[in-house]
Amino acid sequence: MMLSFWEKASFTEYDYAVIGGGIVGLSTAAALAEIEPGKRILLIERGALPTGASTKNAGFACFGSLTELLADLRNMSEEEMLSLVELRWKGLLKLRERLGDEHIGYEPVGGYELIGEQELNSIDCLEEMNLKLFTLFKQKIFSLHNNKIKDFGFNREYSKALVFNCLEGMLHTGKMMRALWQYTAERGVHMITGCEVRELHEQQGKIAISCTTLSQSMQFNAAKVAVCTNAFACELFPELDVRPGRGQVLITEPLSRLPFRGAFHMDEGYYYFRNVGNRVLFGGGRNADFVGETTTQFEVTPLIMNLLEEKLRNIILPNTDFKIDMRWAGIMAFGPNKQPIVQPHLTLPQVFLGVRMGGMGVAIGAMIGDSLANLMLHK
Ligand SMILES: Cc1cc2nc3c(=O)[nH]c(=O)nc-3n(C[C@H](O)[C@H](O)[C@H](O)COP(=O)(O)OP(=O)(O)OC[C@H]3O[C@@H](n4cnc5c(N)ncnc54)[C@H](O)[C@@H]3O)c2cc1C
Repeated sequence: MMLSFWEKASFTEYDYAVIGGGIVGLSTAAALAEIEPGKRILLIERGALPTGASTKNAGFACFGSLTELLADLRNMSEEEMLSLVELRWKGLLKLRERLGDEHIGYEPVGGYELIGEQELNSIDCLEEMNLKLFTLFKQKIFSLHNNKIKDFGFNREYSKALVFNCLEGMLHTGKMMRALWQYTAERGVHMITGCEVRELHEQQGKIAISCTTLSQSMQFNAAKVAVCTNAFACELFPELDVRPGRGQVLITEPLSRLPFRGAFHMDEGYYYFRNVGNRVLFGGGRNADFVGETTTQFEVTPLIMNLLEEKLRNIILPNTDFKIDMRWAGIMAFGPNKQPIVQPHLTLPQVFLGVRMGGMGVAIGAMIGDSLANLMLHK
């Protein structure tokens, strides 16, 4: 694009640029602005709104259900499992502290896991897991609340136990992302939407960021660049081991009476539901079609939607008429293990990667933003 003298002088040169306006990109830009207030910081987002997972998720403020943590123990050491729990917990505290509970619609309602027949043996490990978590929280985290199964109206034949997590909560995803966007803008970060980064390369000691918008292509320059594009990271760097994982969600219309409140996990975390006022938000089912759900396409499929509706009708709301109001999908990022990638790029050392949040970016996003900002400041 042909730039004016003014545009070139005031809009194209930056100390730091962040690519991706999800929770990780915004948290990184916010942390950079907090630590280095006078610096020129640019955030580039290709969607009109952030368009990945951060505005599409279920708004769980959670750090791992009993069966999920037990599954983790089968795949990693106890230290690794505990350090992931700690990262999620600290990330949630950081998010709440930065934005304020009232601005993100945080509700400390606790989390539950609805245990079916196939997971019933996990109950035998509940106290042992409490002991392991005691080192972090200095309190008992999991307890059995089986008496609530009837009050909550769940299918009694399916629901063999209900495990309560006293420290979990939920938030309003839309409010949280608006508050984070506003917080970052108020600290002087220049934010551009509708602008897709196509290529990064070194040019005269800086990183040249080539972008396209609907009508034009243009170039920004920054001394250092953070790439926070999560599931889409391979579009810029195909060599990265990042696989997309779609999450499909539905929400009912408000019910005249909803007997439960809180954030619920089912089936090792593959299904999750919560109340939003008197509505039920229900998502998951990726495990029913891993191959089909390894995609960056923002679409819902009959297979997963039918599964969700069937479980909603038979297990969660067995005695209630409901209507589905909306359905949508968001795209997460997974890899060979649950560790996110937070590191300088191998061949472009002024470029820093903060991607592959493993479906836990609401919880860890604020901490990953801090780590990435500190890496950029000190390398
Ligand atoms: C249905 C669902 C349920 C979830 N439940 C939970 C949960 O219970 N707990 C939890 O902690 N997490 C949960 N998550 C995961 C969490 O939402 C994500 O891990 C987190 O939002 C990832 O944030 P991010 O900023 O890394 O990525 P994203 O939010 O995907 O942001 C990446 C951004 O980069 C932009 N972008 C991509 N390429 C380019 C480019 N070339 N140029 C410019 N911009 C670009 C995209 O438009 C996007 O806005 C869930 C996700 C989904 C979808």
